[in-house]
Amino acid sequence: MSEDCIFCGIVAGEVPSYTLYEDDEVVSFLDVNPASDGHALVVPKGHDERLAEMDDAAVAATFTTARDVAAALEDALAPPGYNVVQNNGAAAGQEVDHAHVHVIPRTPGDDVAFGWQPGDLDEERAEELVERVGEHL
Ligand SMILES: [Zn+2]
Repeated sequence: MSEDCIFCGIVAGEVPSYTLYEDDEVVSFLDVNPASDGHALVVPKGHDERLAEMDDAAVAATFTTARDVAAALEDALAPPGYNVVQNNGAAAGQEVDHAHVHVIPRTPGDDVAFGWQPGDLDEERAEELVERVGEHL
């Protein structure tokens, strides 16, 4: 637990939330600044800032719950689509430094945006990346 962390406060029951689900490993609640109706968060109870810091059990619990929340949103709200988003670092749009997953219902024409311009993968760079990243896996 981190004292200044709002998600740790929610996990501890010190900060109110619109809780959808909770078990020993995770809590899921509505985002108070939703991108769309039904936008939910899944938060592991342990305080890790980023995905790469989480242990296997926390990753499994968090993403299993994200799947279950997505299924529940589909059953309850029947959105035509949804995004599952996990941001790491301010450069990637992470606003709370406690790892979490967003499940965001989507409808055609909504104003939710995750855009990028598709580039072209350079063959030389691709081979370099396979080597450089691969040696860490
Ligand atoms: Zn925290």
